[in-house]
Amino acid sequence: MKKKISIQMMSIATLAIILTAILVMLVFYELFEKQVLSDLKVNAFVLCSGDFTNEENLKKYNAEDDELRITLINPQGTVLYDSSFDHEDMDNHSLRPEFKQALQEGEASVIRESDTIQKSSFYYALRLENGNVLRLSREGDSVISVLITITPVILGVIVCLLILCAILSRLLTDSLVKPIEQMANELDHLENVESYDELIPFIRLIKKQHEDIVKSVTMRQDFTANVSHELKTPLTAISGYSELIENGMAAEVDVQRFAGEIHRSATRLLTLINDTIRLSELDSFEMSNTMEEVNLYAIAETCVSMLKINAENHDVFLSVNGSAVTVMADKQMMEELVYNLCDNAIRYNNPGGYVFVTVGEINGEKYLKVKDTGIGIAKEHQERIFERFYRVDKSRSKSTGGTGLGLAIVKHIVAKCNARVLLESEPGRGTEITVYFQENR
Ligand code: ADP
Repeated sequence: MKKKISIQMMSIATLAIILTAILVMLVFYELFEKQVLSDLKVNAFVLCSGDFTNEENLKKYNAEDDELRITLINPQGTVLYDSSFDHEDMDNHSLRPEFKQALQEGEASVIRESDTIQKSSFYYALRLENGNVLRLSREGDSVISVLITITPVILGVIVCLLILCAILSRLLTDSLVKPIEQMANELDHLENVESYDELIPFIRLIKKQHEDIVKSVTMRQDFTANVSHELKTPLTAISGYSELIENGMAAEVDVQRFAGEIHRSATRLLTLINDTIRLSELDSFEMSNTMEEVNLYAIAETCVSMLKINAENHDVFLSVNGSAVTVMADKQMMEELVYNLCDNAIRYNNPGGYVFVTVGEINGEKYLKVKDTGIGIAKEHQERIFERFYRVDKSRSKSTGGTGLGLAIVKHIVAKCNARVLLESEPGRGTEITVYFQENR
């Protein structure tokens, strides 16, 4: 990239120098032409005013001092006098453009390439009062010869400027590229990178993405460690009990109990694995194609009737209230959401307690509320219970079949449905979790 920028800068500089030199030269050459022609004109008038208008007087005038060639031509084109050549050897000039034009218009300025292209001849012709034409001419460098003359100068300037360009482009590309290189080397300390304004949004983005990646890697590592740890307990139990039975070390009466333990642990394993799979599915789930109009009240009713027996077993009274409300969501996710919230409200309740599920609309926002009169959650835990495997009371969670993933799944679903969740809880009094849904889009 650095090389590319340097090459481009140098090419642009070279082109600019050559074009400028040619342009300047053409402008100056034109000025030079005008100057020579006007000098010739002045000379012609000086000759006239000094009465150098006939052969006799002209012979006395030393034209060579002024690097001039003076020719006097009569109206028929016959050369009467020439300061550089013998006029008798000269051919008729009646067809020369400057002569013809001066005869017709009084004066004429003409430039002609000489035989060698390196020189140009400048002519100024003036018709005299007696009808003769006085022609002054001078030789000058042609445009090509000027070009050839200044070429070494141009080349010298180009070389100097190219060296300057090389140094400047090096400094420029270094200052452009250095922060980027620094960023690549110091991803963990992006705030130390000395950058320029245009790069700041880019650095912010990279920093955020880097932090996200680090966070997600740590989360994954923690999650894997937690999952392995969670799987270990039931697997150890299964392995231990089955080994006892296998070795015949379990008394006849214990076998059934051990089988029951194995069954419970296996069920626990299954629940854990299902929740883990569900979480990773939700991580990669593309919502839009599964969204539909879902009747939240109907889902709450189904869920409540499904959990009725469970609630009775906990001696908890479960009811659903509210009105028919539809939201744009994934049906299966809504069922999981309601189920997980109600299941928790039953499991963390007290015998004789209540769970009220309410579905409705308030201030244009549709909501689902699960309120219980259970054990409640202390302030310091309220923030964290939506984290994976976070439990307030681990043994209560496990003994009631919890995996520590229920609310993490709820949080994911809420995020996917573009909803928000509000938790209000007081230890000893109960918990109220409300999910607010955005307007149907
Ligand atoms: P678990 O499978 O342990 O229930 P969750 O993710 O569903 O996992 O909940 C995390 C923790 O939050 C629970 O272990 C429990 O301590 C607390 N919790 C969740 N819901 C309630 C509730 N309704 N009342 C009291 N505590 C609750």
